[in-house]
Amino acid sequence: MLRLARWMQERYVAPLATVLGAIAPPRVASEDPAADVPQVRPAVRRPASVSHPLVDYRGGQDVLRAITRHGGAFVVRPAPEDEQAVAVEAVAACLSAGRRAVVLVPEASPMPATASALAAAFGERVCVFLGGDRRTRYRAWLEIRAGRYDVVVGTRPAVFAPLDDLGLLFVSRESHAAHREDRAPYHHVREVALRRAELVGASCVLSAACPTAEAAALELPIVAPAGRRWPSVEVVRPGPEGRAPRVVEALRTARRAFVYAPVPGYGVAQVCRSCGNPAACASCGGLLRVEDGRVRCIVCESDGVCSVCGGRTFGIRRGGAERVEEWVGGVTAVPVARPARPRLPRPAGEIVVGGAESVRDLGPGELDLVAILDADAAARRPGLAARERALSVWMEAAGWARPAGRAIVQSSHPSDPAIQALVRGNPDRFLQRERDLRAAAGFPVGAATFRVTGGADVEAAVAEHDPITTLVTTRESRTVCLAVLPRDRVAAFGRTMRRLAADGVVERLEAEPHL
Ligand SMILES: [Zn+2]
Ligand SMILES: [Zn+2]
Repeated sequence: MLRLARWMQERYVAPLATVLGAIAPPRVASEDPAADVPQVRPAVRRPASVSHPLVDYRGGQDVLRAITRHGGAFVVRPAPEDEQAVAVEAVAACLSAGRRAVVLVPEASPMPATASALAAAFGERVCVFLGGDRRTRYRAWLEIRAGRYDVVVGTRPAVFAPLDDLGLLFVSRESHAAHREDRAPYHHVREVALRRAELVGASCVLSAACPTAEAAALELPIVAPAGRRWPSVEVVRPGPEGRAPRVVEALRTARRAFVYAPVPGYGVAQVCRSCGNPAACASCGGLLRVEDGRVRCIVCESDGVCSVCGGRTFGIRRGGAERVEEWVGGVTAVPVARPARPRLPRPAGEIVVGGAESVRDLGPGELDLVAILDADAAARRPGLAARERALSVWMEAAGWARPAGRAIVQSSHPSDPAIQALVRGNPDRFLQRERDLRAAAGFPVGAATFRVTGGADVEAAVAEHDPITTLVTTRESRTVCLAVLPRDRVAAFGRTMRRLAADGVVERLEAEPHL
């Protein structure tokens, strides 16, 4: 673990103390054992029921062999209905070789279906390390260290779980943004898992329907179903109010469906009813949105007041998840829901409407229909990885139409590479193009990015290291410098930054900021 910490210290240019603080939960002294806890390992029993999807995958035998023997890293793109079974099968292979496994999930609540599947398959050998208060987490950590468990499934901190004989680190939904730690040392679970696996001779599996461009750039062996295991995906142009007739028609007959409506609310204010001027927030000029029956600014969250006359009534352009829930209710005979807690439509028949926050690891969907509205909105979102994130959410949602349903996506750009990747169920070409675009933009995939804040000398110090790209802004006499560096220059860059931090020139350094 110290070798891993030292690697993180260099990779993320973070003080060793900060790294060490991240790799173990805060101590709760009253939980500390009086003496060494003896190693208690529950009796090894055959897992309740393990299916073997990987055996028939392209490259499946290779990954299973690596897990049981010599280690290695792989990208696995499971068929949607195999996602949880693939994790269970990989862990079973690891345990059969007498080694232990860590499974990393991006979200704690609701309990990911992958975590439930592991607990069902391996019972008391599994520590579900999700959420909980400080005391519970610390106690679980002590038990893991004492050898009580063979499998740990958890969010980011679990990548440091103190397991001996580690044979597998499995990253579930690798494309999820929550795998990156937003506090110092700002590490990414994918990178730490790969490095830890390498250090201890374990295997690392990155699993996702649509892996990140970063994972794709590693050029690891790709393990995927031998044939097409993807629903039929139809692309239609959005109709009036974002309602294509094909979608309306399909919803009329669907019994269980998910409608992906990424824009929240009921609509946006267009014009002030009192003075007739275009609607804008009186406090900040921002867009006013109707949500839960209230008009509010999407920028500053003030109540909706006309910036010209102070009026409070507006002409509304309808659109957004609340409005979608309303019109879907008008075309279907089954119940329609927009649940606050993400879940699949009920087995008796239901249509669920939701945005990105609804697309979770909920298990095989077996839906009749998945409709993806507003796909073109993704291209307008800011951020280097915005398109990649959008595709990964669409693919997770569309996967719920397996094995017998279908998906319909509304887009005015059917030949867009992201839409084509969704239709084919294969992101390879899209990811290759993303790599080209990001290299052209000066942010090549696989390079290291740092945001340094400090005094005026920061800019020159960064320039010494000959970055691929540097963006400098000055704010209130603070210099903020965004630097993109080849990975082999990070060590020298880090030494300079540490020296400047000691001199008080560098105040803050953030690795791999969300851009
Ligand atoms: Zn505002
Ligand atoms: Zn007005």
